Amino acid sequence: MEIFQRGYSKAKGTYKEYKVEKGHLSAVVVCPNCGNPMSLINHQIRDHGKVLPLVACTLPGCDFRDYIQLENWNHYVDLNREGD
Ligand SMILES: [Zn+2]
Repeated sequence: MEIFQRGYSKAKGTYKEYKVEKGHLSAVVVCPNCGNPMSLINHQIRDHGKVLPLVACTLPGCDFRDYIQLENWNHYVDLNREGD
């Protein structure tokens, strides 16, 4: 399990959330090995920022492949919630 910190920079091992549609958020994570940005649009982000399925870096030659968690994810989901 790899923990990603929330951040605005493109530092390795960070993430930044973005809105995909009303009331829904996804995130871009930066590979902790190579710095490649990867969207989680095709992943589920669950309670406490746990991401399923595992994330594998798409950059050739990078072997990052692990389950990840987005630190402080729930807090920011709440800030952006517009009501169900
Ligand atoms: Zn990588």
